[in-house]
Parts: sequence; C-alpha cells; structure tokens
Amino acid sequence: MMSTRNKWVRLYTVAVEWRFPAGIDIGAVNKFYDLAKIGDDMAREHYRALEKNAADCIGCGHCNSRCPFSVAQMERMREIKEYYD
Ligand code: SF4
Repeated sequence: MMSTRNKWVRLYTVAVEWRFPAGIDIGAVNKFYDLAKIGDDMAREHYRALEKNAADCIGCGHCNSRCPFSVAQMERMREIKEYYD
C-alpha cells in the first residue's frame, strides 16, 4: 500500500508528466490546504506564495481521473479557493 506522502509525490509526478492545463501544483495546493486547516500559518503563507493556486483552476476536470487518492480534485480546487477567499 502506498503511503500518503508517496501518493502526493505520485500526483505531483503525474501532474508534471501530463502538464495539467492550468499549471497548478496540485500536490502542493492540497498539502498546504490540509496543513492550513489544522492551524499551520506557515502553510498558509506557502500557499499564497505559489505561482498558481486553486483560484487558477479552469475546471477542466483533467486531474479527477488521475488522482491517486481518487479525490475529485476539480471540486477540491473549488473548496480550497473558497477557503482562501
Ligand atoms: S480541473 Fe483545475 S486543477 Fe484539475 S487539471 Fe483542470 S485546471 Fe488543473
């Protein structure tokens, strides 16, 4: 069974290989979101420093079928964008 860390690494690798349309580092966006929700202020700053973030999602759905966690990433990008708005 793949560890959580390895799954995010895998998602990142897939994102780079497939060049997701909006160029969002989906693994980093998810990681910083999860950490921010448990009170990590540094993660909040790291998220805001990303070149592209959930607000840049164009809703193409390209990532949904490729997520190693079987997470509906497109919907999660909306959730993350609302969290930071
Ligand atoms: S749905 Fe959003 S996050 Fe997923 S590949 Fe498309 S633009 Fe990127």
